[in-house]
Amino acid sequence: MRRKFVAGNWKMHGSLAANEALLRALLAGLGNGYAAEVCVCAPFPYLAQCASLLAGSRIAWGAQNASQHDHGAYTGEVSAAMLREFGCRHVIVGHSERRALYGETDGLVAEKVSAVLAQSLVPILCVGERLEERESGVAEQVIGHQLDAVLSHCGIGAFAGLVVAYEPVWAIGTGRTATPEQAQAVHAFIRGRIAAHDAAIAQALVIQYGGSVKPGNAAQLFAQPDIDGGLIGGASLVAEDFIEIVRAAA
Ligand code: PEP
Repeated sequence: MRRKFVAGNWKMHGSLAANEALLRALLAGLGNGYAAEVCVCAPFPYLAQCASLLAGSRIAWGAQNASQHDHGAYTGEVSAAMLREFGCRHVIVGHSERRALYGETDGLVAEKVSAVLAQSLVPILCVGERLEERESGVAEQVIGHQLDAVLSHCGIGAFAGLVVAYEPVWAIGTGRTATPEQAQAVHAFIRGRIAAHDAAIAQALVIQYGGSVKPGNAAQLFAQPDIDGGLIGGASLVAEDFIEIVRAAA
């Protein structure tokens, strides 16, 4: 039985004061009355704040990116080893915003997955198609390539240590969510692609859905057999919404 996993992607939002209010509201509102695994992925400067405020709680904290390198002359980069020092458990890798705005290729994403796994952290590997790719019928081909890049660079064993987030690019931050049926179809495709290499790893693989998940649509999405929780952007910044989404992942 796979666990449900709900992660918040704060993106480049927050401040010391706003984060403290949000985290305290999550701690108070969630208490222990929820079944899912929960994580918040904060901007780098706020990881120490997350570590301090969330210490001893069931809420994990993570980062939104990591370098493919361990250390060296890479100005502005942050390594997985550094993240580990802050008690990070998860690292989002290959988010569509990084692919689109910072030129991250399938190959680079695969190198980052490898660097994160080498530090015993859990990559949240984002995959997903753009609207024009869906409309021209190549969504599965695109997602297949994204997965294959990681399979060929890291091997099937990597999928025993990572989480996949299926995030159709056209649904991120747009208010336009994939229907539960659309999302389920792609989740089943992803699981099938991994099962072709190792059925047991595929069966245990946690696959989150991301893209305009809100309290009103979370339960229906999470009820699909291959949807194991969500990667939540905008709604993770609103304590009551994130709490409701976590509760929907029972
Ligand atoms: C995301 O940033 O990963 C995301 C899914 O954003 P939103 O929930 O705002 O669509």
